[in-house]
Amino acid sequence: MTVIHKMYIDGRWTNGASTKIRSILNPATEEVMGMVGDGVIEDAEAAIKAARRAFDSGEWPETPVEKRRDYLRKLADLLEASADEFARLETLNTGKPLRESELDVADAVAAFRYFADLACKKITVETISREDGTTSVITREPVGVCAQIVPWNFPLLMAAWKLAPALAAGNTCVFKPSELTPLTAIKLFSLIDQVGFPPGVVNLLLGDGNHVGSVLAESPLVDKIAFTGGTKTGRSVMRAAAGNMKNISLELGGKSPLVIFEDVDVETAVDTALYAMYFNQGQVCVAGSRAIVHAPLYDEFTRRFAERAQQITIGNGLVAETEMGPLISKQQLERTEQYVAIGLKEGARLLCGGKRAPGHEEGYYFLPTAFTDVTLDMRIAQEEIFGPILVIQKFEDEAEAIRLANGTAFGLAAGVLSEDRERAERVARRLRAGMIWINSYHTPYVDAPWGGYKQSGIGRELGIHGLEAYLEIKHTNIKDKPESIGWFAAR
Ligand code: NAD
Repeated sequence: MTVIHKMYIDGRWTNGASTKIRSILNPATEEVMGMVGDGVIEDAEAAIKAARRAFDSGEWPETPVEKRRDYLRKLADLLEASADEFARLETLNTGKPLRESELDVADAVAAFRYFADLACKKITVETISREDGTTSVITREPVGVCAQIVPWNFPLLMAAWKLAPALAAGNTCVFKPSELTPLTAIKLFSLIDQVGFPPGVVNLLLGDGNHVGSVLAESPLVDKIAFTGGTKTGRSVMRAAAGNMKNISLELGGKSPLVIFEDVDVETAVDTALYAMYFNQGQVCVAGSRAIVHAPLYDEFTRRFAERAQQITIGNGLVAETEMGPLISKQQLERTEQYVAIGLKEGARLLCGGKRAPGHEEGYYFLPTAFTDVTLDMRIAQEEIFGPILVIQKFEDEAEAIRLANGTAFGLAAGVLSEDRERAERVARRLRAGMIWINSYHTPYVDAPWGGYKQSGIGRELGIHGLEAYLEIKHTNIKDKPESIGWFAAR
């Protein structure tokens, strides 16, 4: 019999208020691999209420930070001990190659440990003694009830990036995974249950964005909303959050450029561009989806890129040889196909790919694809596709490279490849993006900020900035005892 996974609200597993069930598909086979309860408005309200009570009772926010650290360390240990199971499940649910899921689990473990320790070091008290006889005490306190909503491309890792800093800082959480990929989050909550967090501190809500996600964004009982997802959804979350002026963090989409100068060896340039674009089938917010290539290298680069892209091994993520898996869903596959049609209609030239991968009867497989002859005004150069489609553009000089790189509404990430370090740093300084890799790409570092400029979002995750996003700052000015101020004469 198929197990139906439940929600975790107020320290208990629950079927939720309705009998609605959602089938979860394996994108490599299109088979149903799990059934989960589907949340409704009443479940969202119950989860928010549980988190509100757990926060307002003070049990978690007033728990000493060292004790909160111990809970999170225990969670990290349990996750690490079952890393193989988590990695396999992540691949089954998302389609990503197993080697990528293994990285995600290791990064998730690191995030829980990092924030557990960071909170102990950084949630400090500052005091200022004043000449007027008062003392100012500056403290950091949790924001309150945090609703956290994540997408389907890094389900476990995004859960860790959201829950770890929020819990370490003393907040209570309602976490909602994507309706397409809830399985590793559900498994994580079985570890959370094992660790024994106090009831209501950390709640799992299942369901889709329009039904339960929007309730989280709107609720006056929620103090903060932390959202990762598309820019369009981010905009509606921001609007909904304005009702009670929630604290917001938004990690949104991108159309990130990889600027490649002529002094780079062509094999290295192509290798980096393939990695920047096709990691996780291009379904990465920071995907290097625009290669901006120096004119002297352009012809050789495009020729070699087409050859190498066609050599990528596509298949089921559980097979050891697989380098690229399926896209997440039929909808995402069709969207990717539509963008190929849009590119062709706009007059771009298809360099490679452009269709479903042959030889796969089932599964949402798409060939690594690239376009040349792309101008900046084309939709394929401006819009986030979130599939394996690279657009390649040519530049003549540094100024043009910067103009092209900065020429979209997004500003999430960018890469610069050059042997000339001074030039690379000069260009990096001019790029309007939150994360820049020089001669590298993709790696997130748990202690360095992650987030975007422009329409790629608001705020930062990871690092000290990621912890501060879950803290309020309070200034208490203290005088030893009450005394008349005498500003207005007593008559
Ligand atoms: P999405 O915006 O459709 O959905 C993201 C999450 O929001 C899901 O859990 C969904 O259920 C929920 N949601 C949908 N409508 C909602 C609403 N009205 N109110 C509240 N919640 C709602 O995004 P997706 O298709 O799941 O993921 C792809 C997007 O995520 C891409 O645009 C990608 O760039 C972005 N992303 C950004 C980062 C980053 O760090 N900047 C990381 C990963 C993904």
